[in-house]
Amino acid sequence: MTVNAPLEFKVCSSNQRTTAKDREAILANPGFGVHFTDHMASVDWTADTGWHNARIEPYGPLMLDPASSVLHYAQEIFEGLKAYRHADGSVWVFRPQANAARMQRSAERLALPPLPEAAFLDSIKALVQADKDWVPSAPETSLYLRPFTIANERFLGVRPAQKAAYYVIASPAGAYFPKGVAPVSIWVSEHYTRAARGGTGAAKCGGNYSASLLPQQEAQKEGCSQVLFLDALEAKYLEELGGMNLFLVRQDGSLLTPSLTGSILEGVTRASLIELAKDQGRSVEERKITLQEVQAGMASGEITEAFACGTAAVITPICAIKGRDFIAGHDDAPAGELTMQLRKALTDIQYGRAPDPHGWMMQID
Ligand SMILES: *Cc1c(COP(=O)(O)O)cnc(C)c1O
Repeated sequence: MTVNAPLEFKVCSSNQRTTAKDREAILANPGFGVHFTDHMASVDWTADTGWHNARIEPYGPLMLDPASSVLHYAQEIFEGLKAYRHADGSVWVFRPQANAARMQRSAERLALPPLPEAAFLDSIKALVQADKDWVPSAPETSLYLRPFTIANERFLGVRPAQKAAYYVIASPAGAYFPKGVAPVSIWVSEHYTRAARGGTGAAKCGGNYSASLLPQQEAQKEGCSQVLFLDALEAKYLEELGGMNLFLVRQDGSLLTPSLTGSILEGVTRASLIELAKDQGRSVEERKITLQEVQAGMASGEITEAFACGTAAVITPICAIKGRDFIAGHDDAPAGELTMQLRKALTDIQYGRAPDPHGWMMQID
């Protein structure tokens, strides 16, 4: 592997910036993933020279050769993290080192070049600094950051690409639950799985998501908002949702979450909630959990709450888990008490409303 000198991000500012008036209009109602800032970060890679040409440039379409490997063999990985504006106007990012490390693990699995952690952090800093006016300040809003790496070699042969590119784009995000946190029901997929043993389940790659879209559609037809996948081998153990990890709360206030078996994505939110719960003196058990055990536990009252977690929504309460021949929980069940307490504890750190004892926040501006 090529050893790189530290990459310096050269800033080439956009001369077609969004006007302050248009930007304010967008930030007043940003939605999710529909508006993008004025700039993006880019770094090129070739097998010969390694990572080079780090820059902040105007946001815009990529020029891709139609034979680029990413378009044919989905050699692609991505990340998701957020920048938050605190009450004093300062801007912070939550645990970017964890995303940098995970992106390196994803890169390894997809035979893509790993971006050095320092370059990942610098790309985030440089982009957020260039577009800091795009970090919204209304409650529960943020600037969502989407780093990704694609194989862009012009070659149809099947082997790891010799050419790749890393980008970061940024999109202002509104409050995920503008009308208050609303519990969702989730559908257990009988026919489809997300990831098999030895597959790419633990890597954050686009291919996992394309495979989850049909089962997600099925869940929606069943009146559920998300799909819950079981393990591919025995269809017996809970794994995770299409893009969120899963937690259960027991009567004694302890937490239970599926252990990382290699087919589950290791969420930064998941890891952070485990730490926060342990800080509170709670026991957190990571192990294989059968669907049957959850059905019985929710019926008997042993399991009192369930929730999903990920960067986009932080914590989404789950009111019911449904399948072809069962319903656990109720459609109209309210959000769990501990669910909401943990959600507050984590968002208070992210928005600077509470101390940050683990040093999770990185100041950008
Ligand atoms: C990104 C992702 C998560 C959540 O990870 P966070 O780091 O908490 O955002 C969970 N499951 C899948 C499949 C994901 O892609």
